[in-house]
Amino acid sequence: METTKRVLVVEDEKAILDAVTAYLERDGYWVTPVGDGAAALEQASRKAFDLVVLDLNLPKVSGEEVCRRIRDVSDVPIIMLTAKGAEEERIKGLEMGADDYLVKPFSPRELTARVRALLRRAHAESDPQRDRMDFGDLSIDLRSHRVHLDGAEIELTASEYKLLVTLARYPGRVYPRMELVEKVLGYDFEGYERAIDSHVKNLRAKLDDDPREPRFIHTVTGVGYRFEAERTVPESTV
Ligand code: CA
Repeated sequence: METTKRVLVVEDEKAILDAVTAYLERDGYWVTPVGDGAAALEQASRKAFDLVVLDLNLPKVSGEEVCRRIRDVSDVPIIMLTAKGAEEERIKGLEMGADDYLVKPFSPRELTARVRALLRRAHAESDPQRDRMDFGDLSIDLRSHRVHLDGAEIELTASEYKLLVTLARYPGRVYPRMELVEKVLGYDFEGYERAIDSHVKNLRAKLDDDPREPRFIHTVTGVGYRFEAERTVPESTV
C-alpha cells in the first residue's frame, strides 16, 4: 500500500489556506498548513515533505526566497500560487526552481490534478529504469537516443531529441522558454525563444501531437511548455 503523501501548504490568506488544506485532505494527503515564509522554512527543515504548495506573496520571508532555500537542499516538487496577471513573478518563481504554478482563483480540481501530476513525476524519478522512459505508446531509449511511437521509430534532430528528453524527464513541470533555450540550444539570446517554438512545432508534428488536444506537450500560455503523460513500466525484456 502506498504511504500517505505529506504536503506543506504555505499561504498567508487564511481563507485560501483553509480551502487548499481541505481539498488536499479530502484527496487523502497529510497536510501541514503554515501562514508565513519563516514558518515554512522551519517546517521544511524539520520534516521531509513530498510536495510544497507555496504562495509567492508572503509576509516575513518571501515565497521566492522560500522556494530558493528549499531548492538549495531538496528536489521536492513545488507548486506556486500566484496572483492573476503576475506573469513576471511567475517566471521568476519557475526560474527559482518551482515546478508549476496555479493562478488564483483556482478550482479544487485544478489543484489536485497538478499535485497528482507532480507526485507521479517524483515517483517516476525514483524508478530504477533510468536508461529508458516509457509513456504508453511513446518510448525514449536514453542509451541509443532512439524514440519510438506506436512501435515505429521516429527520426528526430539532435535538438528535437534534447527538447523531448528535457521535457519528459520531469512530467508536469513547466519549463519557461528561456530555460529550454539554455538547456536545449545552449545559448541565451532573447530571440532564440522563437527557435524553441519552432522546435516544439516540429517535434509535435513528428509525435503526432495536436497542440489543441495534446497527448504529450502542452503549451503554458505566456510562459513555455510542459510534458504531460503517465510514465509506464515496460515489460521485462530479459
Ligand atoms: Ca499572499
